[in-house]
Amino acid sequence: MSIADVVRTAADRYGPAIAIEDSRGTRTFTELSDRAHALAGGLRGLGIAVGSRVVVLLGNSVEAVEVDLALALGGFVRVSLNPRVGPADWERVVGDSAPDALIVDPRVDGAAELVARTTSTVITVDPSASAAPSLEELATGLADHAGMPAPAPDSLCALHYSSGTTGVPKGAERTHANRLASLAAMRDHVLAGTLDGADPAVFLHAGPVIHTSGLFVLPFLEAGGRQVLLDHLGPAGLLDAVEAHAATHTALVPTVIARLLDFDDDRLSVLRHLRMLAYAGAPMPVEHIRQAYHRITPNLVQYYGMVEAIPPLTVLTAADHHRGVIGNADLLESVGRACPAAAIRVAANGDPVPDGEIGELVVAGPAVSPGYHNAGTRTDLGKSHVDGRLHTGDLGYRDLDGYIHLTGRSKDMIITGGYNVYPREVEAAISAIPGVDDVVVVGLPDEVWGQRIVAAYTSAVGAHVDGDVVLAESRTRLPDYKRPKAAHRVDRLPVTALGKVDRVAAATLLDALARAAS
Ligand code: AMP
Repeated sequence: MSIADVVRTAADRYGPAIAIEDSRGTRTFTELSDRAHALAGGLRGLGIAVGSRVVVLLGNSVEAVEVDLALALGGFVRVSLNPRVGPADWERVVGDSAPDALIVDPRVDGAAELVARTTSTVITVDPSASAAPSLEELATGLADHAGMPAPAPDSLCALHYSSGTTGVPKGAERTHANRLASLAAMRDHVLAGTLDGADPAVFLHAGPVIHTSGLFVLPFLEAGGRQVLLDHLGPAGLLDAVEAHAATHTALVPTVIARLLDFDDDRLSVLRHLRMLAYAGAPMPVEHIRQAYHRITPNLVQYYGMVEAIPPLTVLTAADHHRGVIGNADLLESVGRACPAAAIRVAANGDPVPDGEIGELVVAGPAVSPGYHNAGTRTDLGKSHVDGRLHTGDLGYRDLDGYIHLTGRSKDMIITGGYNVYPREVEAAISAIPGVDDVVVVGLPDEVWGQRIVAAYTSAVGAHVDGDVVLAESRTRLPDYKRPKAAHRVDRLPVTALGKVDRVAAATLLDALARAAS
């Protein structure tokens, strides 16, 4: 099976039904297939060779899906820029990936600068914006469904950039086989059972379709569901959108679910119809999982993965959430069980450790990226791929029932007074203090301790928990070497462009607060 098969079979089966829509328009399954094929052919017609990298700067829109599929059909390598991070980051990604073409929405802030600086072919979404060829022109050209041989499974379909160790982003390579592995695991383990029945399924892409939300594009095409793509939705906009589009499925990062929990139950009731609320990308405090289960929907699914090993590698199913909420609370601290295709080993110094012991998660199987772009010339990429296995940098253990528990990232581990402390454990203890909403714990340099543990936290709506209370409570909940030396209440934890808690920014903030207090 290939991505082309998914697109064409969906067009054959569901032809005139709406496949995707955004605030400006819709595409049926037939239109989507025709336009993606025409676009792929049009790009070749412009002289873009198979295997070329194509940088894409588009918000959540029908065009983002068309372009994604067209690049896959035509054998091009998609390099998506996150519209939220701005020109400085984009330039670094463009510098490393050296694309042959750019597909740009000129309405994205900063897009004009990017276009002005490039010597590559530029295709714009807005035909009136410039003399560059427009996406519309290419997408309405001749659609040759048979003339394009499917790219080989191990050929690349994308580079996924994340920040490197020296500030130059690193591009994890993603193959067609990686993406198809994700499709199968999403269908069988994350969406399992939620697409059955006569009622139409509607997926709301509320987060960036270039990241975790995009993993649902192929499964929903395959199942004939409708996908709604919306941009810049705040928490209130998200509730309105779920109601307006009768969405049945969505996937969010935990920080967005935390914001939803600020609404009262009456306002949250529109989410009751969700058949699946998936979350991933960062740990979610257990108290938030419980509240989400009771106040939003019991149909929660968690999965785990990363750009270097396409999600889902593990899944905590809706049934697991149910068992966790009614009694087995340990389950809610876990990221679930490994999907059958993902070989996850917990290892220390390369050797497997017994169940229950903490080690680094090492992954093999069809989800794992072959490596980083430019790995031959860059010296700042580290050695995460060894003999086809990915050393994830995530620490954790497998319990006796096979559930994987993450304890943190190896680079976030705090060493204080000679002890290793996993921030995750301290964060779990502090977030369980009544009135605390969210918390991040980091190690700051300390002359005596090497590093000292400090925390920034937010109070739940209507609560006002003092730093002294957090420190006093920590004394009853944690052994002394794991207790924070300072706890600062803040209005919001700093988050990255993808909505994850930003530990580097949190350390800078906590350092500044400590200096101001001394
Ligand atoms: P990224 O490569 O940007 O998608 O980030 C991947 C990292 O996010 C993983 O290596 C984990 O550290 C973290 N992560 C992903 N999913 C989860 C999850 N369900 N729970 C906790 N951390 C997660």
